[in-house]
Amino acid sequence: MTCRPRVLPYASERLGAMNETASLRARAEIDLDALRANVRALRARAGGAQLMAVVKSDAYGHGAVPCARAALEAGATWLGTATPQEALALREAGLGGRVMCWLWTPGGPWREAIEADIDVSVSGMWALREVVAAATEAGIPARIQLKADTGLGRNGCQPADWPELVAAARGAEDAGTVRITGLWSHFACADEPGHPSIAAQLAVFRDMVAHAEKEGVDPEVRHMANSPATLTIPEAHFDLVRTGIAMYGISPSPELGTPADFGLRPVMTLVASIALVKQVPAGHGISYGHHYTTSAETTLGLVPVGYADGIPRHASGRAPVLVGGVTRRIAGRVAMDQFVVDLDGDEIEAGSEAVLFGPGDRGEPSAEDWAQAADTIAYEIVTRIGTRVPRVHLHATPAES
Ligand SMILES: *Cc1c(COP(=O)(O)O)cnc(C)c1O
Repeated sequence: MTCRPRVLPYASERLGAMNETASLRARAEIDLDALRANVRALRARAGGAQLMAVVKSDAYGHGAVPCARAALEAGATWLGTATPQEALALREAGLGGRVMCWLWTPGGPWREAIEADIDVSVSGMWALREVVAAATEAGIPARIQLKADTGLGRNGCQPADWPELVAAARGAEDAGTVRITGLWSHFACADEPGHPSIAAQLAVFRDMVAHAEKEGVDPEVRHMANSPATLTIPEAHFDLVRTGIAMYGISPSPELGTPADFGLRPVMTLVASIALVKQVPAGHGISYGHHYTTSAETTLGLVPVGYADGIPRHASGRAPVLVGGVTRRIAGRVAMDQFVVDLDGDEIEAGSEAVLFGPGDRGEPSAEDWAQAADTIAYEIVTRIGTRVPRVHLHATPAES
């Protein structure tokens, strides 16, 4: 009996009647057992802190609902998203646990979030006013987490504006319209151990937390750590760590170490089915612009994925692909839907697998190798894999079908 990967309803809807995943043009296999093991490894590193599984942007391209469910099974107690729409979608899929979202814009779905029992982040006065109005309308206290800008310079409340925000939030808490459940912040350079901003941000955070607590805030959770801080800055763990990339088995930065150094295993394997193999003579130009020319008579393999699928055009001529057990380089430019590899005369059959990246068991490249080929970070490689590539979730528990 062959062990066929189970395709979740989520993926199978898009696959229609097709159930032989091997016949797909391309697929991203998502190993939920690896994700669960990664969550357990990260919890062990986080000591007593709780773990928030960050599943924004469709779980970094891995499929938000199955990944969120697997993370909760492995002991995550919180789910985190950027937008409120992403958080609401988790609730609509029936997911429990605490859910928090942090990227709000004026006029956002505050009331829907409050009614769906989602913790919402507040970075300034406009957001507090909107959440208080929505909670009043709903007749339910909103759970809010005040975000401090301790030095990232992005979202969050500046130290100078913090006393005003804390005082107004405490007033709303006394009036019964909000409950301040968390105080939190985000690092700028957690992936650069010893960077002076790390200690500086920790000191500012402690001051801002102390001020809020002096004013009567009694948070359930104080939190700052993303994946690199979870892995390398124990004093940043506080009550909760927010892990994204490490949970997907990718190191936040190659300078910090490999996934294996941290006991992590890559979750996504990107596979395409070779669409065409043909012989061409020496001196044949390949793909748009003819940036590659065959040096001898050879065989070419057509890999049917391109930049519309998230394959970076920047990796043209550079990124590695495993075909027929051998690592090849992309020959010439990545086009919208396809690219070519020079098979060096090897006889490969159409329909053979091209493994773009994965955990490395078969000698395939990693997402990190692709990031280096495209001058970017591995976060971007997995997150940008397009919606035209079905996600095939392996090792889903029966409850997930
Ligand atoms: C994306 C994000 C995280 C997770 O970051 P990783 O480096 O992927 O672990 C944590 N906190 C916030 C606020 C984020 O936006």
